[in-house]
Amino acid sequence: MTVRALIVEDEKNLASLLRGYLEREGFEVHETFDGEAGLEAARRLEPDVVVLDWMLPGLDGMGVLQELRRFSEAYVIMLTARAEEMDKIVGLSAGADDYLTKPFSPGEFVARVRAMLRRPRGEADTTPEEEKPLAFGVLEIDPARRRVCLGKGEVSLTALEFDLLLALASRPGFVFGRRRLLERVWGEDYFGDDHVVDVHVANLRKKLNAVEDGAGNRYVRTVRGVGYRFEGS
Ligand code: CA
Repeated sequence: MTVRALIVEDEKNLASLLRGYLEREGFEVHETFDGEAGLEAARRLEPDVVVLDWMLPGLDGMGVLQELRRFSEAYVIMLTARAEEMDKIVGLSAGADDYLTKPFSPGEFVARVRAMLRRPRGEADTTPEEEKPLAFGVLEIDPARRRVCLGKGEVSLTALEFDLLLALASRPGFVFGRRRLLERVWGEDYFGDDHVVDVHVANLRKKLNAVEDGAGNRYVRTVRGVGYRFEGS
């Protein structure tokens, strides 16, 4: 998939320059000029990278980052105006992947974004962790044997439904956008309609509900306009 970048920067000239640098790298680039619009765009577009200015009118970069982390695993590079602010910002905004002080050169900016993208995400991608059975009340997911039990019953899932459930359950409470789920379950090369996710989630729920009434809807929650999250408790 193409790397999708979102720029949140109120200095329009700078935003447009940054857009140019990233477009030259082959990224798909979107711009917004304040924090609220940035968050709205992040929900809708599920960017891979967010270039986030610290000083924004209204909701500042820090506020955007905190809210963003509730639903997005995007790589975030934070832009700051003054080097002296850096320590304070790094301390406050744990959750950004990198920081850059203005002014910076196009080369430096692009190199930092590229380096950030090469860094693996600290999520449950490690194999040993994934092999451990997960238990949430009466629901048990066993990745090694690819089995799902609900109470005393076994739930018979397709490979895809199993992977979908495992992806969601690997991070209870985290809101997965459709695009994120497509990447994780269908793979990076999948090309097609995001709403295929909805179809498989509906089937997954139906199968869970068939074993225990309401279980599918209880464990797999819809987050309107965004995607899905797993409710583990
Ligand atoms: Ca600014």
